[in-house]
Amino acid sequence: MPEVEDGVLISTNPATGAEAGRVPVADEAAVAAAVARARTAGAWWAGLGHEGRKVRLLRWRALLVERIEQLAELARLESGKPVADGIVEASAAIEHIDWAARNAKRVLGPRRTRTRLVLAEHVGHLEYLPYGVVGVIGPWNYPILTPLGPISGALAAGNAVVFKPSEYTPTVGQWLVDSFAEVVPEHPVLQAVHGLGEVGAALCRSGVDKLAFTGSTPTAKKVMAACAETLTPVVLEAGGKDALIVDADADIPAAAEAAVWGAMTNAGQTCIGIERVYAVAEVYDRFVAAVVEKAGRLTMGEEIGPITMPGQIDVIRRHIDDAIAKGGRAVLGGPDAVQPPNVAPTVLVDVPEDSAAVREETFGPTLTITKVADADEAVAKANAVPYGLGGAVFGKANAIRIARRMHTGMVAVNSTLTFVGMATLPFGGVGDSGFGRIHGDDGLREFARAKAVTVRRGPSLLPSTTFERTPTQVKRIVRTLKLLYGRHP
Ligand code: NDP
Repeated sequence: MPEVEDGVLISTNPATGAEAGRVPVADEAAVAAAVARARTAGAWWAGLGHEGRKVRLLRWRALLVERIEQLAELARLESGKPVADGIVEASAAIEHIDWAARNAKRVLGPRRTRTRLVLAEHVGHLEYLPYGVVGVIGPWNYPILTPLGPISGALAAGNAVVFKPSEYTPTVGQWLVDSFAEVVPEHPVLQAVHGLGEVGAALCRSGVDKLAFTGSTPTAKKVMAACAETLTPVVLEAGGKDALIVDADADIPAAAEAAVWGAMTNAGQTCIGIERVYAVAEVYDRFVAAVVEKAGRLTMGEEIGPITMPGQIDVIRRHIDDAIAKGGRAVLGGPDAVQPPNVAPTVLVDVPEDSAAVREETFGPTLTITKVADADEAVAKANAVPYGLGGAVFGKANAIRIARRMHTGMVAVNSTLTFVGMATLPFGGVGDSGFGRIHGDDGLREFARAKAVTVRRGPSLLPSTTFERTPTQVKRIVRTLKLLYGRHP
């Protein structure tokens, strides 16, 4: 549990309680000073242009690759996650930096728009300019990947960034900022401000031009309310309750393997973690048996780390107890699996759809598996929660059709969580999972404002924007409109 002592945040390893590092805590004035420095830095960074920024970002990418083991070890020290998980997480983040650096000019750079007959004498110019200073607030569960998604997009778009890491993982955040300063030493283009929730709240009110938040849904609402005071636009990546649908023609061993990894990786502390499975009746028994067999083999400590946030243990315990009280059965783990700071893999079946384990975010290595008659029932049940972040489908003939019907921002077919590492695709949710996108073309545009310019290149055939137009010309406008758009299709 992190502690603040004399203005210093002491971060600890949740598995051992050992100190992982110390960072200074910022107050409101320090947050304001960081944003003021970022404003100058941002102007300089924007002035480098797409090519200048691309070179710096690619150098940063190479530095992260060179030190990936060191970074993963730091993430293990601070969050307790296995080193291999830290490597996989960092590799996805590196992919996003590389992609954003290489594609920012294509997505955001200046272009001419198509001419239309109306206003044919004007040319349209469009480009996407940086906001200036972007605030990024990140969670602890993926302390490398979750902040670097918005940070890579915001930096590639030409913004400076002030980043508030979670109080549980401040040294990983500081490490990222320090490594960036090695390749961009001239100005503090990427800075960190540390502290508890109130530092995040101060960042919302600090006058940043856009705020990217990743964290829980209740905090996302507070962030949006604070940002509303100054009409600061937000992108909110909040919680999830992702479902996996197993259709009749699915490869069952593969589906079970993916379900176990999707649910249990990072001890289930994954926003896009699989928390529910809907398996059609024909394959249900085989699927449950395969999941229990595979999840039962996982080793605590090596493959499943501790629960990072002590308070989450109570949530996980409540969900398991409630599921069992309502008639569910634990076919693996169960109430005894909760041994703070660890929770062993738990698989629950026959859990009613109105129980907390099915409707609320558990954020632990638990999974409910529910038998359904067919894919239609699976889709209806998967969509019946307020969250809509990601999801997965295992199957052949109808898998993509099923994926398209899931009311979420992303779906993986015949794998789980894959979309978060695919730099070409946008990432974000609907409903209680938030709105706005990071990653991909949409993720770059999220951190830039469209700038539209019209340039007149000749006399007007249909003059409309002048008091000097004649009644004949107005009649000509009407005639032209009838000709162009009057036909009923
Ligand atoms: P929290 O919402 O508790 O915290 C997220 C961040 O917000 C932290 O840096 C936190 O600081 C800060 N914060 C807390 N209070 C405020 C406030 N009033 N104003 C501004 N900032 C504040 O989430 P967790 O860290 O517990 O992360 C887990 C949650 O994140 C889960 O719900 C998970 O699903 C979600 N998540 C979503 C992802 C997505 O992409 N959609 C990805 C990963 C996680 P501090 O830590 O110091 O309190």
